[in-house]
Amino acid sequence: MHFATLVSGSSGNATVVGHKNRNFLIDCGLSLKALQQNLALLNISASEIEGIIITHEHNDHIKGIGPVARKLKIPVYATAGIWEEMTPSLGKIAEEQKVIISDSFSCAGLNVQVFPTSHDSRESYGFKIHGPAGSQEKTLGIATDTGVITEDMNRYLRGCDALIVEANHDEERLWNGRYPWYLKKRISGNRGHLANKQLAEGLLEWIQGNTERIVLAHLSEENNTPQLALSTVLKILKNSTIAKDNPDLRLRVAPRYTPHELIVLGED
Ligand SMILES: [Zn+2]
Ligand SMILES: [Zn+2]
Repeated sequence: MHFATLVSGSSGNATVVGHKNRNFLIDCGLSLKALQQNLALLNISASEIEGIIITHEHNDHIKGIGPVARKLKIPVYATAGIWEEMTPSLGKIAEEQKVIISDSFSCAGLNVQVFPTSHDSRESYGFKIHGPAGSQEKTLGIATDTGVITEDMNRYLRGCDALIVEANHDEERLWNGRYPWYLKKRISGNRGHLANKQLAEGLLEWIQGNTERIVLAHLSEENNTPQLALSTVLKILKNSTIAKDNPDLRLRVAPRYTPHELIVLGED
């Protein structure tokens, strides 16, 4: 199985996940042109994308769906509530391209489990993706856009081989920054976004001996920096037993406008 974020942050979010030459997107918050360009950097053709799975209906996650789904003629997977919210902004999508998901389904030959996160959209979800069946069945957990760490997140993210998780902001930067009060309250609230330290506490729960890769995603441009997110998380992990138990664990930050290298888990 392989994956990479294509764009990440409030300017747009999309991730490619797949195995061999079968792929799907999680979220589509980028233009068709940016999608094609960023996939090309990973040697993936847009024609190898078999579907788009939606976490929630905020614009930074859905703004490219209409043009991309029409051009590639691929299905879009979302819960009934998210469909209801986002349909008016997508333009024309053929009925047969609309797939309603609930708890678990298959896309591009991979099994995807759906679990709720805590965010101020109508509904919002994370996903646990299982690599192709076999001796090396690997798992990828993805959860961004959540104000708190939920029991469901602990249940589904614990023990994943790789994680794409949100390190949105540094709390001090947020509170000392120039955002208006209501926005500070929204971001730091239970249905907002995770702070670097909150995420690190979650990682202490989720990382197990098999966990190889962590991607910090959805960083705020105003209230965080890649260096600050990484150093805050690393400091907390280094004070735990994880550094000793899991010396090969690698962390990186998802770039805002470009993909990170394609990460391969087990056999691709
Ligand atoms: Zn978002
Ligand atoms: Zn959101």
